[in-house]
Amino acid sequence: MRCGGSTRRFLEVRSSPLIESPWKRPICSLNSRRHEIGVHVHPREFGHEHDQLAELPPDRQRELIAQTRFEIADAVGTEPVSFRAGRHSASRETLRVLANLGFAVDASLNVRYDEYLPKDISERSEPFELNGITEIPVTHGELPTMSRCGVRALAERPVTTTAATLRADRWGCRGLTAFMHLAKTFKFISFYMHPYDATNYHDLENCGEMYRERMEKVIERLDNNSVQFVTAENISDLMDDGFDNI
Ligand SMILES: [Zn+2]
Repeated sequence: MRCGGSTRRFLEVRSSPLIESPWKRPICSLNSRRHEIGVHVHPREFGHEHDQLAELPPDRQRELIAQTRFEIADAVGTEPVSFRAGRHSASRETLRVLANLGFAVDASLNVRYDEYLPKDISERSEPFELNGITEIPVTHGELPTMSRCGVRALAERPVTTTAATLRADRWGCRGLTAFMHLAKTFKFISFYMHPYDATNYHDLENCGEMYRERMEKVIERLDNNSVQFVTAENISDLMDDGFDNI
């Protein structure tokens, strides 16, 4: 698993509830050493009026998560073990539901979404264990103020290693520059994306081909820095040994 001398790692979860045609084929083609398909749930897609999974009764959360996992497994042939809540809407109940369903990894924690979990959990940035589940929070940090990203550094606190950051050009600072700064700053970074980031499905800023080009540059530059890519499913094995010993 080791690549070069670096112990920095790049964790990637690719998730989607959008498993119906025309998504099925592209999702299936994502299966590879570097990509992992996880379960991702937006209650609105199941007819709910709001999109806050954490606000649904635990039984209903369980139903939506289990159904999505079943449909993804049916489409790709492997059962996902990782989860991320739509809009990062996860509570302690959500985490209990995931543990009961046998999930190994949750990637719902994001410092920008702190309504449903205490700050000592929602503000974390590196992987940790919580009630038998490996939590992989969204990596977050700050940009250098003395750089061409200075204005963005003041305006965006914190900056997250998300597809949205990679796509967004702000105040003279390209998304790729901002993303790469964070990727090189930390020992570990986590990353996930929706299929729509890489397509023109929602007509987002710098989505589709532009996004794919940026993603390729990220992978290429990290590869040049001897970074190790690890899927979410495999991170718990590494944690058992202790990150620094690998
Ligand atoms: Zn989503």
